[in-house]
Amino acid sequence: MISDIAPFKLAGNLYFVGTYKASSHLLVTSEGLVLMDTGYDYNAESIKEGIEALGFDLKDVKHILHSHGHYDHTDATAELVRLTGAKTYLGKEDVKYIKGFTPDVYYTDGDVIRIGETEILCLHTPGHTEGTYSFFFNVEEDGKIYRVGTFGGASANQLKKDYYRNHFAENRSYLLRGQFYNSIERLKSEHVDIFIGNHSWQNHTREKAEFLGKTDKNPFVDPTEWLPFLERCRESMDKITENECRTQFVIYAHRGACGHAPENTMMAFYNAVRMGVNGIETDVKKTKDGVLVLFHDSTLERLTGEEGSISDYTYEELCAFTVKQHGMEDKIPTLEDFIKAFGWRDLTFAIEVKQKGIGKEIADMILKYDIGAKTIVTGSLENLKDVRAHAPILRTGCLTKDVDDALLAELLELGIEGVYPMAKNLTPERVKQLHRMGFDVRGWATMGDPEVICNMYDIGTDGLTINHPEILFEHIQSKNAEA
Ligand SMILES: [Zn+2]
Repeated sequence: MISDIAPFKLAGNLYFVGTYKASSHLLVTSEGLVLMDTGYDYNAESIKEGIEALGFDLKDVKHILHSHGHYDHTDATAELVRLTGAKTYLGKEDVKYIKGFTPDVYYTDGDVIRIGETEILCLHTPGHTEGTYSFFFNVEEDGKIYRVGTFGGASANQLKKDYYRNHFAENRSYLLRGQFYNSIERLKSEHVDIFIGNHSWQNHTREKAEFLGKTDKNPFVDPTEWLPFLERCRESMDKITENECRTQFVIYAHRGACGHAPENTMMAFYNAVRMGVNGIETDVKKTKDGVLVLFHDSTLERLTGEEGSISDYTYEELCAFTVKQHGMEDKIPTLEDFIKAFGWRDLTFAIEVKQKGIGKEIADMILKYDIGAKTIVTGSLENLKDVRAHAPILRTGCLTKDVDDALLAELLELGIEGVYPMAKNLTPERVKQLHRMGFDVRGWATMGDPEVICNMYDIGTDGLTINHPEILFEHIQSKNAEA
């Protein structure tokens, strides 16, 4: 099987030996051949054929560099290592993605790998994956030096929220989006004469190869391509975010849409689902005998008329009380019963840690019932710290009055992916800034002013907790009718 793009000399000592779907580039040096990315399993065969067709010996491949760990760049590596004994390189954060080989070298940011007369600058440009690296090196052709550059992970598609839901075990953070933007900005300062993609469509490999040797100018040399390409990468991430906050806006029934039924009760949750919400928000506290129950207030008075607080009673004792609102009453449910009843549904859950020191137990319950992919654990910064430490695979979001740089820095440091300030503190500019940093954004509006609520949708946040979901249903419907 010869590749669907015949192997060719791209410029100087740089060759193309990949396929349309997975680019592999070959550097020919006095210290052996260097392969950049391998590709799908079946690419091992076409790379071997390509290298031989170009008149080189596969056995001379001494180094295999990978832009990132995804299978379409690394799956052929194990076989090629078996055939050549080549040394392999990868960003260490990406080890979780690869199979069949153990990297010999992990890059560090700014590494210059010298092989023969070629010096390859390796820049850590995370986003597409945690351990994405981009390469820069010079080639010489007709007495001229050209700077060759790559963006090791240019696609934003793997940063979609849907992708996270379907690849929960990969433990990908929304914050990778922020890193993706940062990487793009950083790459803009590199000068690139010859842009090579790690997928052939990025730099139109096939189309350009057709004209190699047919004109006096090498079609791959074009210093104007690099920046617009990076701009397109940024735009595609922007579009994904814009689209998500329209098509996947989460209307969280606040305490189970407490404008309609006794808050945080099964009655309220069922009613909210009936109303058609796509998310449920609830609060977790712990009883005297260690049972996680759903209850908001620090005392029982307002909702049950009883004295004391949740932690003063055993679960059995609490079962004698009811939450009374809107002329209805229902008992205080456990978190476990809630998850059993609703966890299987296609909903997003915002589960708030409402008491110090119970984050671990809540996280364990979420993991036990395998609802992590559709859950965001929320709470104060303090209450989220032990969730992060104990179960870093879970998404967390910080409830706060306002947002400032110090808070954002701490959230990034801790890997907390959501920032949920008071609605009045969110402006379109703020939302955009937070999205660019990678955060999931939603406001909270305790007073329930319809104007404030509708504004949260209009300015492009990702969701809202709401006592009266019907306000948003109506608003979104009228917006869609306008559009
Ligand atoms: Zn990839």
